[in-house]
Amino acid sequence: MERTGSGGPEVYIREITEDRIDFILSHTDLSVANALRRVMIAEVPTIAIDMVEIELNTSVLADEFIAHRLGMIPLDSNEVDRIKYTRDCNCSQYCSNCSVELTLDVKCTGNNTLDITSKDLVSNDPRIIPVVSGPEDNGILIVKLRKGQELKLNCVAKKGVSKEHAKWSPISGVGFEYDPWNKLRHSRWWIEEDAEKEWPVSKNGEFEEKPSPNDRNVS
Ligand SMILES: [Zn+2]
Repeated sequence: MERTGSGGPEVYIREITEDRIDFILSHTDLSVANALRRVMIAEVPTIAIDMVEIELNTSVLADEFIAHRLGMIPLDSNEVDRIKYTRDCNCSQYCSNCSVELTLDVKCTGNNTLDITSKDLVSNDPRIIPVVSGPEDNGILIVKLRKGQELKLNCVAKKGVSKEHAKWSPISGVGFEYDPWNKLRHSRWWIEEDAEKEWPVSKNGEFEEKPSPNDRNVS
C-alpha cells in the first residue's frame, strides 16, 4: 500500500488493523508529522455523551461520577458526518439533527452483584452505539448494583472535538519517531563521522529498508 506522488509526502503503511495503524511518512518535514499527530489528537470530530439526566440512582456512586463515566464511553462515530454540531444547528438545546439519545434503565433483582456496562445503554439510532470490539467484549463497566439498587437515566450524545473535551478524542494514543533505528544515538554522547551513513534518511530521501517495530537499535 504505497502512495507515490510528484515529489510530495509519501505514506507507507506497515500495519493496519481495525483499531491500529503503523505507517512511515517520508519526503516531508518533521512539522508535517507533528501536525498530523496533533490533528489526530484534537481535531477529528466524534460523538460522545454530553448531557445526562438522572431520573433515579440508588447505586453507591454519585450522579456526577456516573455522568463522567458515561461521557468517557466511546461511541461508534462512523456516521459523525451526518450529525451537526449543536452550535451550527437551529435548535436551542439539542434535536435529532445534532444529537443522539441513549437510555439506561436497570435494576438488580438477584442476590449477586450486577455489572452495568456500556452494553446496557439503548440508543435511539442503531448506527450510533457504544463501541464493542468483538463477541468476547463485555462492554465498559459503568457501575455495579447490589440487590434492590436501581439506575435510570437519559443521555444526550453530541458531536465534538477533543480540544474541547478529551471525551471526543478518537484515539487512545498517537506518537511518532523521526529516527526509528536510533541512528542518531540519542542515549549517548556521539560525534558525527559520516553524515550520509549516520543520518536516518539517506541522500535521496529514501529509507534504506522498511524497519519492523521489533527491529530497532536501542543502544
Ligand atoms: Zn439541533
